[in-house]
Amino acid sequence: MERTPEKVPKKFNSRMQARLLLVFCVITVLLLGLIGRLIYINQTNGDRYTKQVLSRQSYVSSVLPYKRGDILDRNGTVLARSELQYRLILDPKQLLENEDCIAPTIEALEKNFNIKAETIQTILQDKDKQNSQYVIVEKNLKYEDVQTYKTTTEDDEKVLGVWFEEEYVRTYPYKSLACDVIGFTSTDNTGYFGIEEYYNDELNGVNGREYGYYDASLNIDRTVKEAENGDSIVSTIDANVQRIIQEHIIAFNTEFGSKSIGVLVMNPNTGEIIAMASNQEYNLNSPRSLKGIVPADELATMTDEQKTEALNTLWKNDVISSGFEPGSTFKPVTVAAALEEGLLTEKDTFYCDGGEEVGGSYIRCSKIVGHGKLALGEALMYSCNDALMQIAAVEGKDIFHKYQKSLGFGSKTGIDLPGEEAGIIIALDKLNSTELATSSFGQSFNTTMIQLAAAYSSLVNGGYYYQPHVVKEIVNDKGATIKTYDNLLVRQTASETTSEFLQKYLYQTVETGTAKGAQVEGYAVGGKTGTAQKYPREAKTYVVSFVGQVPAINPEMVIYVMIDEPQNVVKQADSSIATKLASRILTEILPALGIYPEGEINYLLPTEDEIANSQGAESNNADVLGYTTKEESDNQAAESTTGETGTTEGTTGTTEGTTGTTEGTTGTAEGTTGTTEGTTGTTEGTTGTTEGTTGTAE
Ligand SMILES: [Zn+2]
Repeated sequence: MERTPEKVPKKFNSRMQARLLLVFCVITVLLLGLIGRLIYINQTNGDRYTKQVLSRQSYVSSVLPYKRGDILDRNGTVLARSELQYRLILDPKQLLENEDCIAPTIEALEKNFNIKAETIQTILQDKDKQNSQYVIVEKNLKYEDVQTYKTTTEDDEKVLGVWFEEEYVRTYPYKSLACDVIGFTSTDNTGYFGIEEYYNDELNGVNGREYGYYDASLNIDRTVKEAENGDSIVSTIDANVQRIIQEHIIAFNTEFGSKSIGVLVMNPNTGEIIAMASNQEYNLNSPRSLKGIVPADELATMTDEQKTEALNTLWKNDVISSGFEPGSTFKPVTVAAALEEGLLTEKDTFYCDGGEEVGGSYIRCSKIVGHGKLALGEALMYSCNDALMQIAAVEGKDIFHKYQKSLGFGSKTGIDLPGEEAGIIIALDKLNSTELATSSFGQSFNTTMIQLAAAYSSLVNGGYYYQPHVVKEIVNDKGATIKTYDNLLVRQTASETTSEFLQKYLYQTVETGTAKGAQVEGYAVGGKTGTAQKYPREAKTYVVSFVGQVPAINPEMVIYVMIDEPQNVVKQADSSIATKLASRILTEILPALGIYPEGEINYLLPTEDEIANSQGAESNNADVLGYTTKEESDNQAAESTTGETGTTEGTTGTTEGTTGTTEGTTGTAEGTTGTTEGTTGTTEGTTGTTEGTTGTAE
C-alpha cells in the first residue's frame, strides 16, 4: 500500500506576523535614518563631497613662466627687458550656468579694466564660445591692476568665471636703438638676430610648475616648483654713443643720401664694440612691421615673399654681414707687413710716376701725374698706390698673404653675433702679380666692416689682435656675475715699433695728408681714407670710407665710417664725405666716451728736416682732398692753381682736370677709371671672381 504523505497546512500565525512587522519597522527606521543622514550631509557638506569626488578628476597644474634676462648697455641702461603682464581669461560656460552672476561680473570688469559690457555680452552670446571655459578677453594687463581687481572682488560670490594667466612680454624701451646688435624675440622667447639670438640660451630660463589636488577642505594642496629666471647680458654698447651715430646716419641720408651707410665704434684695446649701426633701422617692438620703412603704396602691393625679403634685408647686420672692397683703408696692413719682416724701414723711399706696369696691365695711382718721391710714411699719408704696389712686390705674395690672414681677412672674427660673413681674399696660389699689386691698396678682395676695424685696431694698439665682441659679462637674476669677456686677445700681429710708426703716420694723414676732413678741433685724430670702385667698374659707383683712431697715439677708440654710393656729391669717388661724417660723429662721441680735447696739438707734426726730405709730398700739397658738397667744391676748384694735366696713359679714364677744375688739378682723381681690366682673381672659399681690378683708390 502506498502511503500518501500527510499534508500539513502551514499557518501564518500571529506570532509570525508580529516578527515580520518588527523586521519591517526596523528596516523602515534604518532607511529613514539613512535618508535623513544623507539629506543632512548634502545640506551641510554636499560641496565638500562633490568636490572630493570631482577632484579625483581635476588635477591642478599650471606653468609658472620664467623671466627672460635683460640686455643692458655697458653703463647699466636697460635695452631689452621682459615685463610680467597678465591675460584676462573668461569662462563663459560657468558664467552662463550662473546667470545671476553675469551682471555683477560685467560690472567688475568694466570698473577695473575698462572692458565694455558689450564685449562680454558678445562673447556670452557667441554660440562658439558659450561652452568654452577659456576665452582671452584682454592682454598685457599690469600686475597692480590685476591685484586691485583680485582684492576688490575676493569676497564677492557674484563675480565669477574670470581668471588670469601670467606672461612675460619682451619690450625694448629705446625702440630702434642698437637694433642690429640687440635683435628681437618671438612670443615663445626665441631670439632672432643680435644678442637675442646669439645668447638665447643664456637669456632663457626654465619654466616652473604649480600642481596638486583639492584637499578635504576644498583648498588646492599645491606643490610649487619655482621658475628659474634667465641670465642678463651686459653688452659693451654705449647707448649714448649708439644714439649719436644713429642720429648722424639719418641726418647724413637726409642731407646727402646713399645706398647704405655703416658706422662702427670700438675700443682697440679690448675688442669691445661701443656702437654699431647701419642706415637700415627698425623698431624692435614691432620688428615685423614694414610700415614707415617701405612707402605705403608700395607696401600695399607687395607679395608675402617680397615682404619676407624686405624684412630679412632690414634685420641683417651689414657691419658684420656685408662684404665690400675696402680700398686704401687697407694700406696700413701692407705697410705693417714690410716693417715686421724687416724688408723696409721708415727711411726707405719710393718713386711714383703715376702708375706701374704689372703682369701685363698698367695700374694707375690715384694721382695720375705721380706723387714723385715718397718716404714710407708719406706713401700712407698721400695714399700712393704706386708706392704700395712696390711695397707689396718687395714682400712677395707669401708674406703679403700671411699678413692678410693674420690680420683676420678672409675669416670670421668670431664676433658674438649671428650672421657674420668671412669676406673673400685671393687664395695664395691664385695671387699673381697683378692681384698682389691691387690687393696692396685694398682692391680685388672683400672684407666686412668688423674685419677691417678689428685689423686696424690691432695695428694702432701696439700690435694686439682682440676678438671683437658685443658682450661684457653675463649676470644671473640675483645680480651676480657668472661670466666675463675681458680677455679676448687672439694673437700679436705686429710689434710695438711697427704700431708706433703707423700711429704717427696715420696721425699725419689726418693732419696734413688725404684725411684732413676727419680733424676734430682739440683732438689728435689719426686715420686713413678709402675709396673703392664697385663692380661693374663701368658703373663708376664707389664705396668711400674712413677708419681712424683717437687719440692718434695710444688710442682709446677706433671709428670706421663706410658710405656706399654717396649721393648728391660732386664726385662720388671722394672719400672726404666719409671724413666729414666721421668728424661730425667724433665731435659728439669723444666727450661722451670721456675722451677730452688735448688743446693745441703739434707734437706729432713732422719736423722741418722731415718736410725738407719729402720733396715728392711737397709737390702734392694741392693734392689733399677738399670737400664734396657742391658749394664747397666751387671753392675748392678756385683754390686749385697748379693746373696739372691729368694724363690718362691708355686708360679709359677721362682727363677732366685740364681746365683746372676738381679732378685732374687737385690730383686726387679717384674717379678716373683704372685700366687693368680683365685680371681675374679666383677667390678663396667661393666661386666669386674679381674681374677687372682697377687702380682707382686714392
Ligand atoms: Zn702715387
